[in-house]
Amino acid sequence: MVVKINENYLKLKSSYLFVEVARRESEFRKANPDADIIKMGIGDVTKPLVPAVIEAFHSAVDDLGNGETFVGYGPEQGHDFLAKTIIENDYTARGIDLDTSEVFISDGAKSDTANIQEIFGIDNKIAVTDPVYTVYVDTNVMAGRTGEMKDDGMYEGLTYIKCNSENGFVPELPSEPVDIIYLCYPNNPTGTTLTKDQLKVFVDYAKENKSIILFDAAYEAFITEDNVPHSIYEIEGAKEVAIEFKSFSKTAGFTGTRCAYTVVPKELMGYDSQGNAVEINPLWNRRQTTKFNGASYPVQKAAEAVYSPEGKKQIRDTIDYYMENAKIIRESLTDLGLDVYGGVSSPYIWVKTPNDMDSWAFFDLLLNEANVIGTPGSGFGPSGEGYLRLTAFNTLENTKEAMDRISKLEF
Ligand SMILES: *Cc1c(COP(=O)(O)O)cnc(C)c1O
Repeated sequence: MVVKINENYLKLKSSYLFVEVARRESEFRKANPDADIIKMGIGDVTKPLVPAVIEAFHSAVDDLGNGETFVGYGPEQGHDFLAKTIIENDYTARGIDLDTSEVFISDGAKSDTANIQEIFGIDNKIAVTDPVYTVYVDTNVMAGRTGEMKDDGMYEGLTYIKCNSENGFVPELPSEPVDIIYLCYPNNPTGTTLTKDQLKVFVDYAKENKSIILFDAAYEAFITEDNVPHSIYEIEGAKEVAIEFKSFSKTAGFTGTRCAYTVVPKELMGYDSQGNAVEINPLWNRRQTTKFNGASYPVQKAAEAVYSPEGKKQIRDTIDYYMENAKIIRESLTDLGLDVYGGVSSPYIWVKTPNDMDSWAFFDLLLNEANVIGTPGSGFGPSGEGYLRLTAFNTLENTKEAMDRISKLEF
């Protein structure tokens, strides 16, 4: 007898992208010890938590040190005070009715988008956009919903929906029937958005095909365009076909603090092998109550403060700071004649490489000639080849300096 591993894990390709970026950076540093490198590949926020959040956080920690206000295990689904505040601000205010039993508070949207697939059957056909936030792909590989990765960089059995400049980064409906579609808008890595009408096409498809959309709205707070939905439930009928993921990570700088939430509407149905409709909400509830014991109380109190009048204003200032950087990047590169996408309702700017360079060649050019580090688009999927991602998370000063340096290059 020997212990058998989950062999699906062997199908995973090592996360070559960030390892290789780090390797090239360190090699460059060795050869150029005095170079002042500016990192524009940062996928993490850099501004501190705002004062309103810190105050609530401190006060909740004090609650825990006092016998009269101490809080132990909370509900696995999250505290009611936060669920109610979320609903009031993120949904009721937009004309969407939700019950607290439809909101599941957690320690992150990464884990939620990763874990959600386990409540669905193994033989579901999965579609992802390409390029993609790789968590959606890798978790389905681990579960055994794919074959091996083919030479074209795509896993067998997975449906990839190409998003590139040719289709304006608007995904087409899958050409083969699919059961589950992952969508992330505003998009990581491309920074592009879908309008309400464009998202409605997917909602209508899902209704018609009895599919489910897994909608990742982690960058919702960066939306500046009027016709871009802040929630998929702004689209009529979406409650019947969509699960929505939101996070305080990018919205309020909670990447190290950890708090997010997932909405699973009561109307959402899946089907058993006999074809009977089954509510999805109780399945996720069962999954969470069994495998998760809730986000910590001080963190949920801190998240609640994001919605206080001061909290809202303070996080708005932080987001505006990042978005000013995004604007500078977008405008500088556009002035250089480059094709630039995203950066309007997103902290990510997706740049087409000049002269049909591949992603890594452009990465090397920026590193060597401008000492600026981006992220090669090819690392996010085959359709990311020929693009590079820059982010707005550096300081204003560094962002301006990086654009000045790039502006002096000749392509
Ligand atoms: C950053 C990010 C998240 C947020 O993950 P957390 O676990 O909440 O920090 C989710 N989805 C995408 C696409 C992201 O880029």
